[in-house]
Amino acid sequence: SADKEKNNTAAKIKVVVRKRPLNRKEIAKKEDDIVSIAPDTNSLTVHETKLKVDLTEYVEKHEFCFDAVMNEDVSNDEVYSETVEPIVPIIFQRTRATCFAYGQTGSGKTYTMQPLPLKASRDIFRLMHHSYCNQGFQLFVSFFEIYGGKVFDLLNDRKKLFMREDGKQQVCIVGLQEYRVSTVETVKELIERGNATRSTGTTGANEESSRSHAILQLAIKRLVDGNDSKPARIIGKLSFIDLAGSERGADTTDNDKQTRMEGAEINKSLLALKECIRALDNDQGHIPFRGSKLTEVLRDSFVGDSRTVMISCISPNSGSCEHTLNTLRYADRVK
Ligand code: ADP
Ligand code: MG
Repeated sequence: SADKEKNNTAAKIKVVVRKRPLNRKEIAKKEDDIVSIAPDTNSLTVHETKLKVDLTEYVEKHEFCFDAVMNEDVSNDEVYSETVEPIVPIIFQRTRATCFAYGQTGSGKTYTMQPLPLKASRDIFRLMHHSYCNQGFQLFVSFFEIYGGKVFDLLNDRKKLFMREDGKQQVCIVGLQEYRVSTVETVKELIERGNATRSTGTTGANEESSRSHAILQLAIKRLVDGNDSKPARIIGKLSFIDLAGSERGADTTDNDKQTRMEGAEINKSLLALKECIRALDNDQGHIPFRGSKLTEVLRDSFVGDSRTVMISCISPNSGSCEHTLNTLRYADRVK
């Protein structure tokens, strides 16, 4: 079938870049757009302005190639088709799939990620009602965040949760709320509720949430022998991860101790994530998931026939040049 065809071609790891448009502030400051995208060759170029010793300016070009590059005209629908749509069918076949959004704060991670679980659940319901009808499949939603190395349930008043490893080296987050859903509308309500619960701290929503990883999981389960009284068995899982702002990993010299600790934790988790994805690609036996809470939580997503999509979000303005290059170098290492 067409679905099977897609499964076979869905790459194990896919790395794409999405550039957002210049915003009003950047335009008002007369900042340049320093990122040019060549979709035909899946490449992009960053034009970095540098100074010579005699203080004259020159431009250094940095070229990168990825599985796909998306410019500011690309819609969220097109992002979905390029990234998540191909991996939706495979989670009906005992597979884990994960989609990450990586990038500095303000680069478009949340803008990019928010619509994806909705479009995915729409397609999951379609598959359940057509290709897999009357097979006892059910969809469950959970939503939590990792902040300062701790896990908080976003669908249960930010209750602090702990992880446990069972004998089969499966990790589970004890007491994590999971909602069984049967409509896209319910998924939407849960996501909105979770987003409203994300770390807001005292300094305002974006500031604090940029220091946490938000993890939304869609799990497909199946009733054991069609029996509604036994717990359903997990078949596949699709995780959406809106990562902490990548620049926060550099907060390790901040004057505030709390900020420094959070920065160190973010730095550790993003490095561990990169190592885990690289290990996945090399089919190494050893996956260094113990490097951080984030990778520990995602342990079951880093084994076997799992799929990973990394969406690297970049800002186009000259003032973000350094962060943009850092993001592209990170993505380059993962691919
Ligand atoms: P992040 O989550 O990485 O901090 P956001 O997703 O909050 O960044 O995006 C920052 C701002 O830029 C928001 O106001 C968002 O609406 C806008 N934005 C981001 N990406 C795009 C895009 N591709 N097209 C239009 N606006 C965008
Ligand atoms: Mg965000």
